[in-house]
Amino acid sequence: MSIWSKYKELVASRLSNGSVPDVKGVDYWRDKLFHVIVVYTLPVCMIAYIPAMVLCYYLDQPYIAFYDSLAIALIVLVTFSTKLSLRWRKLLFVGTMYLLSITLLYYMGVYGPGLLYLLSTVIFVSLIYSSKLAYWCVVVNAAICVLFAVFMHLGLMDSALVNIYTPEAWLAVASNQVLLSVLFAVSIQILTSGFAQTLEKESILKENIKNEVVESERLVKELKIKNEEMEQFTYIASHDLQEPLNTILGITEILKLPSSKKGEGDFEKSLDYISFSVERLKLLIKGLLDYSRIGRQLAVEEVSSEEVIKNVASDLYSAISESGTKVLIDESVRRMGPIAVFLLDFNQLFQNLISNAIKFRSMSVKPVIEVSVKERSDFFEFLVKDNGIGIDKDNLDKIFDIFKRAHSDASYEGNGIGLAFCKKIVELHGGQIWVESKAGSGSSFYFTISRHLAK
Ligand code: ADP
Repeated sequence: MSIWSKYKELVASRLSNGSVPDVKGVDYWRDKLFHVIVVYTLPVCMIAYIPAMVLCYYLDQPYIAFYDSLAIALIVLVTFSTKLSLRWRKLLFVGTMYLLSITLLYYMGVYGPGLLYLLSTVIFVSLIYSSKLAYWCVVVNAAICVLFAVFMHLGLMDSALVNIYTPEAWLAVASNQVLLSVLFAVSIQILTSGFAQTLEKESILKENIKNEVVESERLVKELKIKNEEMEQFTYIASHDLQEPLNTILGITEILKLPSSKKGEGDFEKSLDYISFSVERLKLLIKGLLDYSRIGRQLAVEEVSSEEVIKNVASDLYSAISESGTKVLIDESVRRMGPIAVFLLDFNQLFQNLISNAIKFRSMSVKPVIEVSVKERSDFFEFLVKDNGIGIDKDNLDKIFDIFKRAHSDASYEGNGIGLAFCKKIVELHGGQIWVESKAGSGSSFYFTISRHLAK
């Protein structure tokens, strides 16, 4: 790395004020400009400093040499100090400019670059501070020039100026500096306010685009979920709903047979089958309707998860007490604050998971259900863990599809809708659901809830 790059890196590390804002406003660019001015001032000022020192030596001007060196020392402080904040650096920089202007005016009059430095102070202040301050700077510059004239008039000054000008002539010369200062202050203000307007428009535009991207991402996600739902509905309509209908059709075929071909009691049996199939069909259709209704609640509410779990446990009181199940709410859930959810659906989610954990309990151990939560940066990760019969690994994925079951023997009632509900509810909350389990060794149902639902 070259010395220049190393130097720039060092100054950058001293002047850095932390993070770069997302939207870079005028203030960011003013600080950036000051940064660049500081980087260049020290190397570039040698162009004036070295000849000035030679001149001071030949003209025997030790005071100018002293103040010039003091100015360089202050610029070194502004550039390399580890302690100074950006505000103080700017202040010290402008102060150094004034020190130089006044010294040069006093010792060299208009032969020196004093008026030039006064003018450049206005330009720097317009660029690194607000334009309002630049107008104050013009006033201060004018006041300095007037003060010099007053001191000259009163004979209080043994300055180079006295030898060249009368106070009136000095004021006439200095007024040019004031004129140019005003011109610079006004034109830089017009430039920066135009720049500020453009930046503001750009940041509004960026914000709008960001919002639109977020919205379109949300719509795409919603569309994907709806598409999956449609696919499931098609599947259900063609398979699950056909099943009881086929049974009814088969039985009506039998009923159409002449009575000689039907056995005794066939008629009653057929009616039983038909009413069983119709009942099942009714259940399936109700399940589908309930499933399609998830997410109709539009507003989110702030609720305590502990309260929700306690309410679910009290709704399931008889199943819990009959089975002797222990429902444990972990400290992590007790500690967490209220979270934004669709309350009815969130309630249903816990109800389905806890009632499943009771239903699929093991007969060999006392059933225990434990609910805990981990607070991640973008979401809450809940865990509902049981010590029940578990699920074999081939079924782990499919149990979240509607009407799919891993244990279909008659001892476990159900129609395979509960977990499909859970999946839809969790997706409605911007999250995901999954299970870790092994046949015979309990199940751990994990689900996440977005922390940004309230926005
Ligand atoms: P249902 O309980 O009506 O069968 P679900 O959709 O709630 O329907 O569950 C689907 C299947 O997932 C269940 O049939 C069962 O095989 C399995 N399952 C769900 N929860 C548990 C659990 N806690 N332990 C073991 N198996 C479970």
